[in-house]
Amino acid sequence: MEQRRSILDAILDNIGDAVVLTDGEGRVVRVNRAFEDLTGHSGAALVDAAAGNALEMAEGLARVVRATGAGRWVGTLRCAGGGDCAVELRISAVDDMGGVAAGYLGIVRSAEGLPPEPEASRFGHDTLTGLPNRDIFVDRVEQALLLAHRARQSVALLMMGLDRFSLINDALGHSAGDSLLVEVSRRLRKCIRETDTAVRLDGDRFALVMSIADVDDSVIVAEKVLNAIKEPFAVDGQEVVVTFSIGIALYPEDAPDVESLGKAAENALHFAKTSGRNQYQFFSKDMNQKAKVRLDLEARMRRALANQEFIVFYQPKVSAEDERLVGAEALVRWMDPDRGMVSPGEFIPVAEETGLIEPIGEWVLRRSCEQMQGWYEAGLKPVRVSVNVSARQFRSRTLLDIVKGVLTETGLDPRWLELEITESMLMNDVEGVVRKMAAIRELGIGLSIDDFGTGYSSLSYLGRFPITTLKIDRAFIADVDTNPKTAEIARAIIGLSRGLNLEVVAEGAEVVGHVNFLRSHGCHTVQGFYYSKPLPPEQFEQKLREGKVSRPG
Ligand code: C2E
Ligand code: MG
Ligand code: MG
Repeated sequence: MEQRRSILDAILDNIGDAVVLTDGEGRVVRVNRAFEDLTGHSGAALVDAAAGNALEMAEGLARVVRATGAGRWVGTLRCAGGGDCAVELRISAVDDMGGVAAGYLGIVRSAEGLPPEPEASRFGHDTLTGLPNRDIFVDRVEQALLLAHRARQSVALLMMGLDRFSLINDALGHSAGDSLLVEVSRRLRKCIRETDTAVRLDGDRFALVMSIADVDDSVIVAEKVLNAIKEPFAVDGQEVVVTFSIGIALYPEDAPDVESLGKAAENALHFAKTSGRNQYQFFSKDMNQKAKVRLDLEARMRRALANQEFIVFYQPKVSAEDERLVGAEALVRWMDPDRGMVSPGEFIPVAEETGLIEPIGEWVLRRSCEQMQGWYEAGLKPVRVSVNVSARQFRSRTLLDIVKGVLTETGLDPRWLELEITESMLMNDVEGVVRKMAAIRELGIGLSIDDFGTGYSSLSYLGRFPITTLKIDRAFIADVDTNPKTAEIARAIIGLSRGLNLEVVAEGAEVVGHVNFLRSHGCHTVQGFYYSKPLPPEQFEQKLREGKVSRPG
């Protein structure tokens, strides 16, 4: 034993390579002479890690060893005298038993004069932001769990996504989006300790892995991140404000391994997004259940699209003056063979999230145009059909081509088509929205603002949008006959529409009192249960034949 040690000493002190030995936690156990020459630190100072630069280097080494494990690392270490030395470190595990190393052996070379690593070839790093990427993410989390397990500590995994990043990409272009991501990464790095890892997963999604002594530690970091990101960014000379949503899951409290920890954090992130964004949410068991339901719904929707389980209902729009049928809103229904009719309120939001809204929306558009053209060709007098376009569809670059294509394929005269978009879509990027609207209007179709009055859009912009119709949200119609304040708002919206020369439609008129109010205040087009519920195609065809929707009773 004694002899082996002196042989080892002799080897260590006579080879030219700088060598460092650490324990399993990365604490320096000994270094050789070449190491002392290279770094200027004495071995004793490093082992004691007493203070100052020796402490900084010892801690730096420990971090590198813990984060890298066995492998290669290139970076800087704090040498004696306070300067940073560029080094290359090749680390091997010693007495590795089932992934738990008793110690590490590091061979250090000066990286001074070595060509800098081209970013693209740094394995496991994102070329844009320089952060570690998905390739080494799992590894890092695994290591963190292992260490935490031994130290009886916890690990917090924070999954983070920028809110509405695609809006910025669409509005300012991809290179602006890229510079934003670079700046976001820089701010992220500032929020964390060096022992924590920030990762760019893909697109606008990031993750943080940190060992924590207390749940509060993760709250502090999450709040720091939210605040750091909230500060305006300067991108291409423009000020841009973005927010983060963060999902947090804890090991071992929420999940026992990397995979389930990742899923739990994903679920929490989803919850943060759907609870209004710009916030963090901790994972809860309840979320898992909700996530299952969502996944299940998504799979069923895909099947429904393939199996043609969707159907379009039409709700008549009626002239309050003479009960003439003047239009129809196309409203999608899902005839689920297992569950019966599913209302759009249940599946549209999930379709929107998953992107399925794009094929579903396209299908509704095509079907509505096809049916209206079919009725026209059967000799019926057509009415204008209004098709709802969701936020995601409206943003999509393909919307215009899809609408053009559908009009050509079906042969429907564009004046019989109107698109409904909700007010909340108008709030960002006014210029872009105006351009898109103008292109839509150019096709000869109408444009309506749905649910008007609920989206808090700035009235000053309203005049700039090339729209044709305002639809008063049904919240303002519900008690228009009994509540003087609501009545005043409804009156104001009607006046506003007339002033801007827009058609005004009231939705959700249920009782005669609503209709009387609307008629006497100059809102001529009324949609609601009072006249008719949304109807399946064959029943709507009957109304089209009659040209009138008589009041019940
Ligand atoms: P929306 O566009 O505001 O449609 C009006 C909703 O009000 C419809 O609900 C309609 O059935 C309901 N409604 C009509 N009259 C009355 C009434 O007198 N009283 C009450 N209480 N409700 C009335 P529906 O069909 O369940 O649709 C809900 C929402 O789902 C729609 O709101 C729309 O935002 C969305 N949606 C429906 N179909 C589509 C579609 O094809 N594509 C997209 N993107 N969204 C759709
Ligand atoms: Mg609508
Ligand atoms: Mg509406």
